[in-house]
Amino acid sequence: MMKAEKPEKTEAKPAPAADKRAARRVKETVIRGIAVSPGIAIGPVFDTTEPPAEAPRRTIAETAVDAEKQRLAAAVAASRKQVAKLKMRLGVLPEEAQEELEPLLDAYAMMLGDSRLIRGARKRIEANLLAAETAVADEADAIADVILSAKDDDKAGLRRRAGEVREIARRLTRNLTENPFRSFKDVPEGAILVAEELTPADAALLDPARIAGVATEEGGADGHTAIMLRALGIPAVLGAHGLTEAARRGDQMVLDGAAGTIALHPTPATLVWAKDQVGVYARERTKLAKLRRLPSITTDGEEVELLANMEIPAELPLIAQAGAQGIGLLRTEFLFMNREDLPDEDAQVAAYAPIVEAMAGDPITIRVLDWGGEKEMEALAAGVPAQTSANPALGLRGIRMLLKRPELLEAQFAAILRVAGKAPEGAVRVLLPMVTIPTEVKAAREVYDRVARRLRRRGEKLPEKLPELGAMIETPGAALAADAIALEADFFAIGTNDLAMYTLAVDRGDAEVAHLYDPLHPAVLRLMQFATEAALRLRMPVSVCGEMGGNPRLVPLLLGLGIRCLSMNASAIPRVKQAVRSLDIGDCARFARRVMEQSDPARIRELVDGFATGVTERG
Ligand code: PEP
Ligand code: MG
Repeated sequence: MMKAEKPEKTEAKPAPAADKRAARRVKETVIRGIAVSPGIAIGPVFDTTEPPAEAPRRTIAETAVDAEKQRLAAAVAASRKQVAKLKMRLGVLPEEAQEELEPLLDAYAMMLGDSRLIRGARKRIEANLLAAETAVADEADAIADVILSAKDDDKAGLRRRAGEVREIARRLTRNLTENPFRSFKDVPEGAILVAEELTPADAALLDPARIAGVATEEGGADGHTAIMLRALGIPAVLGAHGLTEAARRGDQMVLDGAAGTIALHPTPATLVWAKDQVGVYARERTKLAKLRRLPSITTDGEEVELLANMEIPAELPLIAQAGAQGIGLLRTEFLFMNREDLPDEDAQVAAYAPIVEAMAGDPITIRVLDWGGEKEMEALAAGVPAQTSANPALGLRGIRMLLKRPELLEAQFAAILRVAGKAPEGAVRVLLPMVTIPTEVKAAREVYDRVARRLRRRGEKLPEKLPELGAMIETPGAALAADAIALEADFFAIGTNDLAMYTLAVDRGDAEVAHLYDPLHPAVLRLMQFATEAALRLRMPVSVCGEMGGNPRLVPLLLGLGIRCLSMNASAIPRVKQAVRSLDIGDCARFARRVMEQSDPARIRELVDGFATGVTERG
């Protein structure tokens, strides 16, 4: 019913050729994207492709004109300060980046002076009795229109200049509304959010109780936006080419987050099917909930630890409901998102303490900040060098950045250690992201020990034995050097998302190359096997915490490779447990040997699917 390679139209009933609008209404358009977060969403499109009106249009009383002009003046002053600050920071950037950015910031500063934008906005406040943000938006639109209609062959240059005006208007609006970040508050309840692109920080702001689903043109299956959407349990399809072209605000949409399909203007039959599917999901959830209290144990008695990955604290109740045995990966990036300053040690203690407390002694692995690559966050611009690499994923990411700015690492270690001091011994572990060489773990441990000594001198209560310090294995370099890294680290967490990205040179968040992103590629599996065996030889704990770990179809392979601890999006735990409880370790080991003999990813997928079907039959 909802299957198509690219936008395709199915006639529901004949439409009069002359009336295109009517034709739009009666044709179902099916768009295929990347299945990112399962679930069915039925609702109207809320299209945010056009930059959303960051502030509602507002008029003012005549008596408020002076106050409004003052408000504008204050926002201009604040914006000017911000731009000046940005300019001061230019010094830390390489020369080419400075050359690129300096004229832009100068242009911004000029626009924040006695410019047409500011004069025009002021005039609109007076003449049209508009609120300052409405006046700024109107004036910026008017200026951008004039620029874009100029007779100039350099169309790209015109678009850039118009964009600069709009950018400054957005900064002013953010300062006027004291709401510096994108807001989704105006998305109507039950709507499906449609956007060109959503950043992970944007996704963190979505309210799953209000938003029925998310569909975007950009994005890949294991990018952070996808992970965030899964964590929030919002049905989502990303990488849906042609979507923003086809969808209009208010259009009816059915989104199938498990199949990766979107039906615009669904036919009555599609609607009936979708409503039926909503019921199927609800019944399955009830069935899976019964697994919560059952042990995660194979048919031959082998225990498999099932832990939750956590993106934001709002997930805590979900983690408890899912029956997770602990948190295997607490991504701390949430703390640094959607804010303009850096969280200090106390702010971090305040964030981690309730999470650790809520887990009541169950294990929790806190990963220090993995900043960089696609995870770049606004707050950090204030505290760390801006990313200037042409390949940010290969630049100053994760532990590399933290070792370069040890004060950030120190604050985070200190906060974690203080929280660990109040938890049962051994409950908290610390994890380092983006390790590629053993000396990174060694250097981080030196900082760790130093911070612990300082805290003890300060009289803080720390655990007698410091929490274990582990390394993410998420680059081919780390996987192939796993035996050496194992001598420095206390445990491994295999991050298959990045491991697949870096092994296959495929951006995990890029829809264009999503077809090449394949964690079942033998190269990825061989690296996982190598790293797992290095850990097992030393009897060192090893888990898989990438998205692979939450896929029940892949459980036999992972168990067969020797993995006994999986950390995943909480909502995946019941299905993974169901798979574990139907498996025999001997079968899994034999199956993994067969898979590891293969060199063709398609054949591996076939084998995995075949085995999974068998699992279902046995279960
Ligand atoms: C991974 O790379 O697999 C991982 C778990 O880390 P993240 O997704 O946060 O990069
Ligand atoms: Mg990673």
